[in-house]
Amino acid sequence: MIQATITKTPSIAPTFTKLVSKEGGTEYPLKAIHICEETFAPLEVAYDYDTIRNLVSRATIEAGPNSIWRYRHFLPVTSENPIDVGTGMTPLLKSHRLARRLGLKNLYIKNDAVNMPTLSFKDRVVSVALTRARELGFSTVSCASTGNLANSTAAIAARAGLDCYVFIPADLEAGKILGTLIYNPTVMAVKGNYDQVNRLCSEVGNTYGWGFVNINLRPYYSEGSKTLAFEVAEQLGWKLPDHIVAPLASGSLYTKIYKGFQEFVKVGLVEDKPVRFSGAQAEGCSPIATAFKEGRDFVTPVKPNTIAKSIAIGNPADGIYALDIASKTQGELESATDKEIIEAIQLLAETEGIFTETAGGTTIAVLKKLVEAGKIDPEETTVAYITGNGLKTTEAVQGYIGEPLTIEPKLASFERALERSRTLERLEWQQISV
Ligand SMILES: *Cc1c(COP(=O)(O)O)cnc(C)c1O
Repeated sequence: MIQATITKTPSIAPTFTKLVSKEGGTEYPLKAIHICEETFAPLEVAYDYDTIRNLVSRATIEAGPNSIWRYRHFLPVTSENPIDVGTGMTPLLKSHRLARRLGLKNLYIKNDAVNMPTLSFKDRVVSVALTRARELGFSTVSCASTGNLANSTAAIAARAGLDCYVFIPADLEAGKILGTLIYNPTVMAVKGNYDQVNRLCSEVGNTYGWGFVNINLRPYYSEGSKTLAFEVAEQLGWKLPDHIVAPLASGSLYTKIYKGFQEFVKVGLVEDKPVRFSGAQAEGCSPIATAFKEGRDFVTPVKPNTIAKSIAIGNPADGIYALDIASKTQGELESATDKEIIEAIQLLAETEGIFTETAGGTTIAVLKKLVEAGKIDPEETTVAYITGNGLKTTEAVQGYIGEPLTIEPKLASFERALERSRTLERLEWQQISV
């Protein structure tokens, strides 16, 4: 493996000031630490919003790069040249056909299935984490991953010339393992579930002094998710939506979308208004949704058992903060079965031309349930966050979708097959209409 060389990059004046404990507010310096020593609560980056207000306007952001770095003053990095691999500014699509199927008038899809460079929202958090890792002097970076984070960390570390070690549960989808190995990091496939991988990584981190993007660098890493809020607000014409639906694994993404909207209000980029935060989990790993439905303010860990592996975290680090946001915004946290997830993957694909992975299927399945339960007003501007790409989790839908019509290279063979498929379609229609 090539030894990483650390180049000192020129820096700009920081807009972030300290790390603050989410419980009790104890302050910490801006180092690679993630847990409050007194309360064991997560640490979060704090900013000087007066400084940010003086630095940014709608016009300066619009004139910025076509990536997450147009929001750089809201991100915890000082490098003049952050690692920019084109992450972010993914499409926000106004949904027509899915919206009609569900009975919604103002549905939008934020499509991170086409995020760069590895086709999931994780490219956002990793671009930020590795830029910060470089600033803090790390030459080796690492992560505990449910799959997408492994892809992203390996790819962006390769681009940045950082040494990379990746830890994954051994039973991940083939596409996610291959999509990590290709970047040539060291991959440890751990015989255990994600929560066990994560625990192991905490021990490794303490001993080896590496920069773990989602452990000791977590306060910086998680800030990258705010760009999913910033982009949606900008793409809606500098307005907040009425309602969002996002998937929850650790709950980090969901809570940071909330923080992102609040920050845009705080510095005067958008007008304040209530946004309802709804969230989706797979029934086979739904500790946060279960706590919400039972009216609890604490999360009981579970052992994951679902096809939605990318969001299968049984002991979610930000679960209690997600619960708080769902209740104070009058959102809903709901779960979907594996069967509903597969059907929703297919539904999104055939109505909008977007092939999402299981996490996106979970979001669409829950969106559908919420509409059916009357929990989403048809007129509301609703944004569904699609966070990953279906080509990475083909196992999940294999056997549930159609097959090609295999024919001879002859016109007659084609015509027979065409007739057969039209008959089948007619039969399906008859079944639907009875
Ligand atoms: C990691 C991930 C999420 C959410 O993760 P959080 O831990 O809740 O931030 C959602 N979707 C996909 C596809 C992911 O890979």
